[in-house]
Amino acid sequence: MSTRVGIFGGTFDPVHNGHISIVRSFIKSGLIDEMWILPSPSPPHKTDKEITSFDHRKKMLELVFSNDENIKISDIEEKLPLPSYTIHTLQYLKQKYPDNKFYLCIGGDSLADFKNWYRAEKIAGQTDLLVAERPEADGRDVSEKFLQNTQFVEHTPVNISATEVRKELQKNGEGLQDQVPPEVLQYIRDNGLYKN
Ligand code: ATP
Repeated sequence: MSTRVGIFGGTFDPVHNGHISIVRSFIKSGLIDEMWILPSPSPPHKTDKEITSFDHRKKMLELVFSNDENIKISDIEEKLPLPSYTIHTLQYLKQKYPDNKFYLCIGGDSLADFKNWYRAEKIAGQTDLLVAERPEADGRDVSEKFLQNTQFVEHTPVNISATEVRKELQKNGEGLQDQVPPEVLQYIRDNGLYKN
């Protein structure tokens, strides 16, 4: 039987408990055997912002998921041509790993915005989507054509965003214990990240 692999992309600047809980929910759904997390080198929709280096963002993810055998941090988007459009990444993965079945895993807010993604219809037409809810973004209010191959996984929404985490880090970073794992906070301190 083919291995069912969930693909979860994002900026992860930095990885936070919202990302971690969503990853756990996708795994817990039983719909995938492995989760591959793909930090994006230069997300197409975030070109106007300063982004922490790919290496730092990847290392923070590795710190969090190092004990999970079924979770892999992949740097393929760093090797593929920019910008990293999901359709190209999926095509590459399907070609390189023909025995795997890939599922695109996204949060409810990304599903609500999905129609704006590059080649959204093509992605939805050839890839199964797994969606976990996110507060303030009801993923179910989405055009039928994007829902045909979509399954919603059970998920208790966690109201954290990397934007808010970065704002807090620029102040003093206190009070983030419930939002960012200790090893990531330590890494951020050790490397002087998010200072300005
Ligand atoms: P930013 O605030 O910088 O836009 P973010 O917190 O939204 O960042 P991303 O790296 O852009 O994080 O998100 C990657 C993926 O994680 C997206 O599919 C997004 O929907 C999902 N995600 C992020 N935070 C949460 C959360 N709290 N709950 C559920 N999904 C989330």
